[in-house]
Amino acid sequence: MSLYLDNNATTPPDTQVIDVMRCCLEEDWGNPSSAHRAGIAARRRVELARSSFSRLVGCDESQVVFTSGGTEAANLAILGAFRRTHAREPERTLVVCPGTEHPAVLDSIERCRAFGAEVVRLPVDSNGVLDLASFERLLDQRGRMMALCSVMWANNETGVIQPIERIGTLCREHGVLFHTDAVQWVGREPCDLSNLPIDLLTCSAHKLHGPKGAGALVLRKGVVLESRALGGPQERERRGGTENVAAIAGFGRACELASDWLHAERRDAGVSMRDRFEAAVLALHPGAVVNGGDAPRIWNTVNIGFPGLQAQLLVVVFSERGLAVSGGAACASGSLEVSGVLGAMGVDPDTAAGSLRFSLSRDTSDADIDAALELIADVLASF
Ligand code: PLP
Repeated sequence: MSLYLDNNATTPPDTQVIDVMRCCLEEDWGNPSSAHRAGIAARRRVELARSSFSRLVGCDESQVVFTSGGTEAANLAILGAFRRTHAREPERTLVVCPGTEHPAVLDSIERCRAFGAEVVRLPVDSNGVLDLASFERLLDQRGRMMALCSVMWANNETGVIQPIERIGTLCREHGVLFHTDAVQWVGREPCDLSNLPIDLLTCSAHKLHGPKGAGALVLRKGVVLESRALGGPQERERRGGTENVAAIAGFGRACELASDWLHAERRDAGVSMRDRFEAAVLALHPGAVVNGGDAPRIWNTVNIGFPGLQAQLLVVVFSERGLAVSGGAACASGSLEVSGVLGAMGVDPDTAAGSLRFSLSRDTSDADIDAALELIADVLASF
């Protein structure tokens, strides 16, 4: 695939990530729990990655639990925190989130029902941003019954950013645990957990040029979970199982590269590139709109609705011409269902069915954007 604008689905692993992983598989392949040299070398790899990750997100190494990815991290954060909280404070039964969350969160929250939870969906506005006034009302009325609130930092389909600082502060005032799914945020935008009211944050390596199969949960100090993966004392007894050393080490290297990129302050160039792309694509189709376009958005994402066109068909046509984009979340593609995120935002069904997500990465060049624009113009002219 020569032109890749689907970086919210996954990013290509950096060559330095691949080098580190190869080293782990060929040389440092020991079990990090072993006391001999091979084990110590593998343990060093894992702990180096923990320190690189901690620096990227601004937390202490003791707060990090490595997992197999964003999905497992969200499962552990939500089910683990709910079960522990509910056991200690049985009156806290309520678990809340907006309908624009990723299925990793939505399904974890649904599963809480089996353990006694009542689930409430929080309303969002037409950009998908949480309706803070109604959330505050709910907290005033039922805050004492609320165990957990989960709101993602940046949306995977639209890039829309939630006011997580305000949400976290409100949760804290009511003794409610706050989880944020930061899979699309970490590595792309600055993150300093030492200054934010977040109790549980989850993220994934493969969205920041790391490998698939690695992710992390960060726990605020003092937050205790019920473990999900039982069977070993790994990760301070919060996630049993022999660590995936190569993937974790690759994740660590990816974090170092992301930190370097963020420090080099090249984000603004990404914003300009995205804005140029967005303006040019909008001009290609009458009635085209940016979904979530009136809210703050993460720099790399643009979701455009083309009323009257079928996104699923466009994805295939673009793919045949060498351009990778997505018609909604990757896990939903292949089905003809309209995106739940756009549905929750109230986007009309015609526009939602014709909505495409274009997502850039730090490696996307101006030449890539020019080539993509030429190809998109050509394809849209034929419809
Ligand atoms: N949360 C969000 C917002 C995502 O975009 C994704 C992946 O697409 C996940 C969670 C799941 O992460 P993983 O693929 O590492 O399980």
